[in-house]
Amino acid sequence: MAEETIFGKIIRKEIPADIVYQDDLVTAFKDIDPQAPTHILIIPNKAIATVDDVTEADEPALGRMFTVAAKLAREAGIAESGYRLLVNCRDDGGQEVYHLHMHLVGGRRLGRMLQRQS
Ligand code: 5GP
Repeated sequence: MAEETIFGKIIRKEIPADIVYQDDLVTAFKDIDPQAPTHILIIPNKAIATVDDVTEADEPALGRMFTVAAKLAREAGIAESGYRLLVNCRDDGGQEVYHLHMHLVGGRRLGRMLQRQS
């Protein structure tokens, strides 16, 4: 089992967060430091630390993260203009919170995904 993080407390509503969706498998809430007009985090309710820790048993929750992302993007009015789904893994990926999460980012032009290394 992954170590407890602040996201576990958000799932259980022990600390405040702007939760925009929750069901038996996933929870979605607004990022505290938004990088775009829409910036929502979608997380499995199970504490999976990183992408490297997922198993086949997690596939229902991982699939639900995508269907919920698409639903929330439609609700935010960015489905047609487009958006980005991002999952960071460990240090080089820039992961800060070790509870697997998908960023749903949109509402402005996001540019290239990665800086070119020239
Ligand atoms: P990472 O860098 O791990 O992929 O992204 C972690 C994200 O979690 C960051 O975008 C950060 O702003 C967000 N975050 C960290 N702590 C909190 C919190 O307590 N509440 C909310 N809503 N977002 C958080």
